[in-house]
Amino acid sequence: MVRNLRVFDTTLRDGEQAPGIHLTPEKKVNIARALDSAGVDVLEAGFPANGGSERNAIRMISKEVENSTVAVLCRPITTEIDMCQEVLSRAGRSRLHLWVSTSPIHMRDKLRMEPLDVINKMINAIRYAKGKFDSIQFSSEDATRSDLFFLGNIMKEGVRAGADVVNLADTVGCAMPEHISLMIQHVRSCVGDRVPVGIHCHNDLGLATANTLSAVRAGAGQIDCTVTGIGERAGNCPLEQIAVVLKFNIRHLGVETNLKMDRLGNLCDTVKNEMGLNIQIWQPLIGENAFKHESGIHVHGVLKNPLTYEIIDPEEMGLHKGQFVIGKHTGKAALRHFLEKNNLTLDDEKLIKLTDLVKETTTYKGPFDTEDDLIQFARANGFELKSLRRHCQ
Ligand code: MN
Repeated sequence: MVRNLRVFDTTLRDGEQAPGIHLTPEKKVNIARALDSAGVDVLEAGFPANGGSERNAIRMISKEVENSTVAVLCRPITTEIDMCQEVLSRAGRSRLHLWVSTSPIHMRDKLRMEPLDVINKMINAIRYAKGKFDSIQFSSEDATRSDLFFLGNIMKEGVRAGADVVNLADTVGCAMPEHISLMIQHVRSCVGDRVPVGIHCHNDLGLATANTLSAVRAGAGQIDCTVTGIGERAGNCPLEQIAVVLKFNIRHLGVETNLKMDRLGNLCDTVKNEMGLNIQIWQPLIGENAFKHESGIHVHGVLKNPLTYEIIDPEEMGLHKGQFVIGKHTGKAALRHFLEKNNLTLDDEKLIKLTDLVKETTTYKGPFDTEDDLIQFARANGFELKSLRRHCQ
């Protein structure tokens, strides 16, 4: 039995909240289109209380999006709920994402409210919003630092008041996978099977993907993510990473998503371009080095079969194709490959000498940028490159 797992993308809300990122309504619409065509179930378009241009962007997105549900973030305040209803009025499917902090530190120092008042405020807001949107999601902020029994109770009350989805946030990214699993199991036991329990993980300790996966194994019905993992501080669970992890483990995990895997590359490129992001070179799947090889043994293997050192064919995911680099770690087989690609050849003995010289030179000067640079280098150093004979019949 394979169950369907809902993907809630928050690139345009949590992602855009990241310091240094600011999107015009037009850019937000472009990203929303890419998300919609990549098959995300819910697309969080923004936080209407932020201001006029944000509300404009959400109205434009609501008109444009065809399949995804459009969600907006909202505090448990009636005037804010009314504002959210107005900006989502053109959406095919709308979701109100109400949230409140449930940890002692947030309730005491940020909200300055008693726990019981927090519960009542949320119940009233959910009741007020019910019927004004296609679905209501109730999220706990700082769930991982909340009292587990209080968390279970407030979620149960939220569902009783009318929430259709509940969601738990590891807001400060402090949790371990085991903790996430326990929390999901506990809240599931409180709210029952009718309502999906979602998870929202931050990457402050590099555990966002692992924690999200742990939630899925514990029965979470919805996962939050952002394209390329952008978001507050160290970011959120990267959509492309969790998508590939899930795809590889359908049988083991028993879940599938509605994501269109061949759109992932386009989606990541759109977000990178519209936001002007610099992605670190070793970022999983989308970094410049993610499918690049230099070392002799690796290149030798990949030339025979790319899957010797690559877990997926990047092009199947719409990601950028692998590449080879000619540098200090390059071996004989790679040099032969580059020469043959250019219809050139060198006998074995000379190839070994050229390999040694390439290693020596690039150790100090850095890798060659192109195959042409390699060919010029070989010729300049007296290597006679012969043409590969092509026998045609
Ligand atoms: Mn967040």
